[in-house]
Amino acid sequence: MTTIRLRNSKSRKVEEFHPIDPQNVRMYVCGPTVYDRAHLGNARPVLVFDVLYRLLRHVYGEGHVTYVRNFTDVDDKINAEAQRRKAVGDPRTLEELIAERTEETIAWYHADMDALGALRPDHEPRATAFIGQMIAMIGDLIAKGHAYEKEGHVLFRVRSYQNYGALSGRSVDDMIAGARVEVAPFKEDPMDFVLWKPSSDDEPGWDSPWGRGRPGWHIECSAMSYELLGASFDIHGGGIDLQFPHHENEIAQSACAHPEAGFANYWVHNEMLQVEGKKMSKSLGNFFTVRDLLDQGVPGEVIRFVMLGTHYRKPMDWTDRKREEAEATLRKWFSLVGKSEVGRVPNGVIEALGDDLNTAGAITVMHSLRLRGEHEGLRASLEFLGFSVDRMSEWVNSSPTASPVTDEHRDIVAAHVMRRHRARLEKNFELSDTIRDQLLDAGVQLFDKKDAPATWEFLSDFDPAKLEALK
Ligand code: AMP
Ligand code: ZN
Repeated sequence: MTTIRLRNSKSRKVEEFHPIDPQNVRMYVCGPTVYDRAHLGNARPVLVFDVLYRLLRHVYGEGHVTYVRNFTDVDDKINAEAQRRKAVGDPRTLEELIAERTEETIAWYHADMDALGALRPDHEPRATAFIGQMIAMIGDLIAKGHAYEKEGHVLFRVRSYQNYGALSGRSVDDMIAGARVEVAPFKEDPMDFVLWKPSSDDEPGWDSPWGRGRPGWHIECSAMSYELLGASFDIHGGGIDLQFPHHENEIAQSACAHPEAGFANYWVHNEMLQVEGKKMSKSLGNFFTVRDLLDQGVPGEVIRFVMLGTHYRKPMDWTDRKREEAEATLRKWFSLVGKSEVGRVPNGVIEALGDDLNTAGAITVMHSLRLRGEHEGLRASLEFLGFSVDRMSEWVNSSPTASPVTDEHRDIVAAHVMRRHRARLEKNFELSDTIRDQLLDAGVQLFDKKDAPATWEFLSDFDPAKLEALK
């Protein structure tokens, strides 16, 4: 049987993976908060854990892996959007507006992640469907002395859990010194975090022994993983940004509620997708969505290929050049393998993936398969990694074989972008807007940067003649 090795954040080592029960390998991954379209960074964990899911199914059998990824549908950002809609005159109730927002966001999420070729997890629980279980777990933590109620809030007593901080390798005192904690009058200790909080009339709420309120974010994952996977399971995944405090808090809650069990044995964290050295995030405003790229005519497979080109534990940037290279490679590969049989997935590919998900290594193996003319193995590898050859055959045939973009085009755009940058520095916004509009008309979209020249994308309607006319 193929050995899978994974970097376990808990031990900070690459370890051999041994499931608790090979008949039912269990994985939980923290899913999105459903208040808006997924940005490209959000797609990274989806693709990383999709590859791991495929690998586990390959090794242990399709019916022997259970993958759970939740939807966080209780969140102040969702409430804020619903309240905004109400404020601009929407006559519906807040509950209806919240439900609408989460429903539409989940539908977008599915459409976007399907387009990237990600398999749907076996369970996609919504937090709002597990409120009763969260209330029960919180009650249990209070009974065991790990949590307390104050002023309608229930807080987790961090000092009651000895191993707090073990995952991220911090002591409680370091964390307080880091001052990432909120001091509040209802807390015994500034480190304590919220399990339950009261809701005002214009916030969603559920009845509980502590009054009408709603759960904190961390308890959601502890309750849902327990309900769907049990007190001990194999892999817990998510982005490295969630390691502290979210995962640390999940561990504290679950370990205290079920002290006899181990919670997650392997913690796997993906690094961040970045933009100019900073994490892509909604709050920094340096993001674009998966849908933006798909709408520009970038196939989901190309996005997937670019993502898998970097090891999941390395930060990565999305660049136009990577996209072009991925497109060229896939075009070549799909045109070669289109008519071949699907062979066996070559060992080299599986071995690379088994080596802490070395997707870039698997791609290197695929390049060599193509050089040796082993098209059946290449096709099998593509399908295995989630690239649908059938779906792509249309793309390969319909689009031009070579990108119409040349180095000269890039130079022309760069010159206009610099001219526009100077105009902006001189506050000549009229000229700056004209240049932007002319480029867009030629099918080149600019992305403004705060203190630097804009970056750009060639859109699918790029018109070389129009661009050349701007020279
Ligand atoms: P959120 O909805 O922000 O909680 O994020 C959902 C998932 O996306 C989590 O697993 C995050 O760790 C992950 N994530 C958010 N931003 C990025 C990023 N820039 N790069 C990679 N993963 C990210
Ligand atoms: Zn979580």
